[in-house]
Amino acid sequence: MSVRTPDALISTCRENGLRATKSLRAILDLLCENDAPLSIQQCAEQSTELAAADTVTLYRLFERLEGVGIVRRIGLHERAAHYVLADALRHRHFVCCTRCGKVEPLDHHCTIGHLEEHVAEDSGYTNLYHELVFYGVCPACGRN
Ligand SMILES: [Zn+2]
Ligand SMILES: [Zn+2]
Repeated sequence: MSVRTPDALISTCRENGLRATKSLRAILDLLCENDAPLSIQQCAEQSTELAAADTVTLYRLFERLEGVGIVRRIGLHERAAHYVLADALRHRHFVCCTRCGKVEPLDHHCTIGHLEEHVAEDSGYTNLYHELVFYGVCPACGRN
């Protein structure tokens, strides 16, 4: 599997019965450009197309994308839900603020890769990947 492009993702969406609307295209473009998980609010801030769209519609669109396995939801709850491409090739560690709900990618060297080998051996599962989320209070929230 190669790294996903917006065009390849659009095809997958069509195969799964999603209409290739301008909003869908704008969401996929943003997610492909960003390594950081994005909230719906952040998506709207970065795209005039999405800023003009109805928030409830965007929530439903993200839910459908999650349902067909194209995006994954990370974060605390509905208000602070963040989305990233569910790209198994990209390995992901995140930190999430329990006060404001912000989610940021961590860029550190992964030290638990060997665990995957153990899990593969013990479970017989193949194509393993992992996602790791640390929770805490971000610097901005810690100052208040
Ligand atoms: Zn915070
Ligand atoms: Zn890791």
